[in-house]
Amino acid sequence: MSLIVHKYGGTSVGSVERIKAVAEKIASKHRTGDKIVVAVSAMSGETNRLIGLAKDIQEEPSLREMDVLVSTGEQVTIALLCMALEAAGISARSYTGGQVRILTDEAHGKARIKEIDSHRIHADLDAGRVVVVAGFQGADDAGNITTLGRGGSDTTAVALAAALKADECQIYTDVDGVYTTDPRVVPDARRLDKITFEEMLEMASQGSKILQIRSVEFAGKYNVPLRVMSSFEDGPGTLISLEDDDQMEKPVVSGIAFNRDEAKLTIRGIPDQPGVAYKVLGAISEANIEIDVIVQNVAKDNSATITFTVHRNDLVRASALLEQIAADLGAEEVSSDDQIVKVSIVGVGMRSHAGVAATMFEALAAEGINIQLITTSEIKITVVIEERYLELAVRSLHSAFGLEQ
Ligand code: ASP
Ligand code: MG
Repeated sequence: MSLIVHKYGGTSVGSVERIKAVAEKIASKHRTGDKIVVAVSAMSGETNRLIGLAKDIQEEPSLREMDVLVSTGEQVTIALLCMALEAAGISARSYTGGQVRILTDEAHGKARIKEIDSHRIHADLDAGRVVVVAGFQGADDAGNITTLGRGGSDTTAVALAAALKADECQIYTDVDGVYTTDPRVVPDARRLDKITFEEMLEMASQGSKILQIRSVEFAGKYNVPLRVMSSFEDGPGTLISLEDDDQMEKPVVSGIAFNRDEAKLTIRGIPDQPGVAYKVLGAISEANIEIDVIVQNVAKDNSATITFTVHRNDLVRASALLEQIAADLGAEEVSSDDQIVKVSIVGVGMRSHAGVAATMFEALAAEGINIQLITTSEIKITVVIEERYLELAVRSLHSAFGLEQ
């Protein structure tokens, strides 16, 4: 007998009909003898609707009250799903995060889970019930309702699976797995049977929005096998797990990720001296602006250039700061560009293969695509290119690494 945690996202529980369909799916798995714990999101659009109501009253509502408000979305779906399960002849019980006792810190809106009390859940499972838990929420030491950040139901599901020592955490969503790249860009992108936590983390942080990044980190840390699958059709989905050393023929590249959300800033003609990079980038991160790719170069005349990328939403703020820093340092010039994209090839197989970068650059060169920045990690090579070449770059890399069906 296995213990499986299921997670259903907003579209999967977006209407009463869908909730009934989810109940049928759970019921059929329950009849095979699996013990099942379910984490659910709010019905699609509901969390945004609630945030909208708050903003109609106050520009910056208290974070505590926001959590009281937005956590209600999930409370609706747990109750409706339990009713649908009971109607399908399965005994079920719902719990809010606070009722389970999903204990978090006090950081409203981005709380972290500290501990989960699994007693009530185990007792229900032993009594043959399906347990349905509200995703995205917990409670702090004092009992205040907290939420885990947008998309946080994924993290709830993984944390429950870790606490319950579940055999697998199955994320049911509107796609049938993780693909080699976005099928909207490359129609013959392929569903991956398996991918490692590390690769998924890179794909997610490069813009693949299937799973909340934190949930993947959590799954890796506690080694919870995660499976992304469709809630609308049957299929094996994609298993995300530890790297398996026995797999002789690891693909060199597992996927192509891309991100359209970044902008590039450059400061030119600064002194090549200790402390200069700190002055430039320290001031940016002190303003709570996240920096992604960073490249520094020193010219023949010993002046340095630093280029880095930030989220496009932060570009105006970052530019203003950089102008100030430039004035302080006597820099020659500051420039910015928001018509850029980041494209990455990702794969654990890269660790043991040489020449991967050359293949990547050759494919881009063949299309006449200029590379502006390059960064690498052990399992990833990222380039920054002009935005208008995004589709072309992704398609040519996808075929250069033989990822099509
Ligand atoms: N309902 C929350 C959100 O929309 C949490 C989730 O769906 O995972 O962000
Ligand atoms: Mg989601």
